[in-house]
This record gives sequence, structure tokens and C-alpha cells, in this order.
Amino acid sequence: MPEPQSEIQHLTKNWQQQLADAFNNIEDLCRYLHLSPDDLPVSVAATENFPLRVPLSFAACMEKGNPHDPLLRQVLPINEELFAYPGFNHDPVGDLASAAQSGVLHKYHGRVLLINTGSCAINCRYCFRRNFPYADLQLSKQKEEAAIRYIQADASISEVILSGGDPLLLSDARLSRLIQQLNGITHLKRIRIHSRLPIVLPARITGEFINTLTESPKQIVIVVHCNHANEISDCVIAACNLLKTGGITVFNQSVLLKGINDNAEVLCELSEQLFSRGIIPYYLHLLDKATGTGHFEVSEQQALILIRQVQAALPGYLVPKLVKEQAGAASKLSIL
Ligand SMILES: *Cc1c(COP(=O)(O)O)cnc(C)c1O
Ligand code: SF4
Repeated sequence: MPEPQSEIQHLTKNWQQQLADAFNNIEDLCRYLHLSPDDLPVSVAATENFPLRVPLSFAACMEKGNPHDPLLRQVLPINEELFAYPGFNHDPVGDLASAAQSGVLHKYHGRVLLINTGSCAINCRYCFRRNFPYADLQLSKQKEEAAIRYIQADASISEVILSGGDPLLLSDARLSRLIQQLNGITHLKRIRIHSRLPIVLPARITGEFINTLTESPKQIVIVVHCNHANEISDCVIAACNLLKTGGITVFNQSVLLKGINDNAEVLCELSEQLFSRGIIPYYLHLLDKATGTGHFEVSEQQALILIRQVQAALPGYLVPKLVKEQAGAASKLSIL
């Protein structure tokens, strides 16, 4: 796999090519990182329903030769994914099935999630969608039209959140058409995009995409997903600068993950690094209890201790809200 020279070549390719070149098996990723799969608790069986998928731009932020690298741990399929943990199940939030039917998830007042695609550029092993058949989440033309009609018909909806999977896997042309349709709905104030691509595949932030956003009369909010300061590479910084110069508000959400960011210093460094790039810490989520993710769990009690330590160390605006998802609640539940 890539040596430094070819790595640079790779990172100058367009985002679709970079996506096509993403690592898709344990051996290639380990070889690139100078690790031997034999020395790691890797599991090929764990990849059967949820394959390994890692763009090189994300792998390039990992430390070579370090089996405990916090970015590697987010994407490496390991034996523990096959263990059963009490309280963990296939659809912990209880809404994937309804979202798959309509493409729209309207749980909270004033805002709806629009599920555009079930796939992602990276497969995060802690993801609550890992057990769900992705194809069912694909937004067909009919579903998209029905979703637009739904939003049009309900004047209490002031914000549409493009979500997934990862909505930025849609082409610029498709996104542009969708955003133009949303632009035409007068009661909408904001269009929000939830995406991990600015972090894991920063080449996705193209000039055409920025133009689509800046041409919209709606306020645009982007919520990225970054769990560790090491994810913020020079390419990520450049992508975020493009968003900022387009006048777009950028927030970050993270998931609290055992062995990755369950440490006050790591959380403080993440907030500091994000904010120095103009990104505002928004949410720190407790893990959704999906089958295969039990080894990532940090207890609520431990999470509280951590967030209090962060609070004692940073200005209030750098402390993300510690929240959890609860079926039937009117919002995410704040834990503090
Ligand atoms: C998380 C979520 C939102 C957004 O919640 P905010 O608190 O506004 O960030 C909206 N709808 C659904 C279904 C969600 O899960
Ligand atoms: S980017 Fe988000 S939705 Fe996609 S696999 Fe990772 S956690 Fe799941």
C-alpha cells in the first residue's frame, strides 16, 4: 500500500476516487500501519455484516506501529464485537425502521431528519446503524418527493437536517437539486447537514458544494463528527476553512468511547483544537447500545466525572453538552 510519495498522489485525487480507494480489508490497513494482524485481536467474522471501510485520508492520521491508536480503534474490527453485552440490541434508538419507510424522521419539535443514504465513507465500529440493512435507507426519488411534500405541509418545521448514513456521499448535483427544493419552502429557516466527511474525507468539500450552500437563502449549519484531536489533519483544516469562508456555522459532535476519548485531557485537547479551527463543540453523546459495540461503553457515572473535569478546565463554550438518546423523549437528554 501507499508509500509517502503515492500517499501524496492519492490525496490529490478527487473525492470519489479517494472513496473508491478506501481500505476495505484488515490486511491492507495493517500493512499500511506497519502492524501485523497476528498481533492484534482482529476479527474477520466481525466484518461479515459490517465491513471494514477507511479512507486513506483518515488512516494517514493514525500513528504507524501503534496498535492502540485512538483512530485505528474506531475502525478496526475486533473479536469483542461478537460478544453479547446485556442491554445492547439491534435498534437501540427504535427509529430506524420508521425512517427507512418514509425517509423522514420527525421526533423533535420544529426539526426533521431527512435520511438521504444509508452508507458512509467510513465504517465506525461503534455505529448504531451497523446492524441495519443499508439499502433500506436509500432515499428514492419517490421517497424524496414525499419527504419534501411532508415538510412543505407542516409550517411548524423550521429546520431540515440532512442525515444518513452520510448525506455528503450524494453527488454535488443531487445535493444541489435537493437544497434548491428546500430553498423553496418558505417556513424553513435553516438547513443543517450532519456529516463525518469533512473529517474523514475532507476532499469532499468541493467549490461546487460550497457554492450550493452559499447560494441558499436559508441559514446553513454543518455538524461534523470528530472524536479525537488527531483526526484534525491539514486537509481537514483546509476543508473547514472553506466552510467558514462560505459563512457556514460549523459545530462538532463526538461519541464518548472507551479507550479512545474517555479521558479529560483528550476531551479538552479535542475542544481546543476544534475551536482553534472555528468549530464549536456541540454534543458529546453517550454510546447508543447497539449489538457489537458493548466494548466501547463508558458508564453514565464515569461520563459525568469526565465532563465535570472538562468543565473545571475549560471555558463554558468549549464544553460539549453530554447527552444520551432516549426513545420517546422530546429531545436528547442532557446528563448534568
Ligand atoms: C438528534 C436528532 C435531531 C437533532 O437534535 P438537536 O438537539 O436539534 O441537535 C433531530 N431529530 C432526530 C430524530 C434526532 O435524533
Ligand atoms: S460516520 Fe456516523 S453514521 Fe457513518 S458509520 Fe460512522 S458513526 Fe455511523
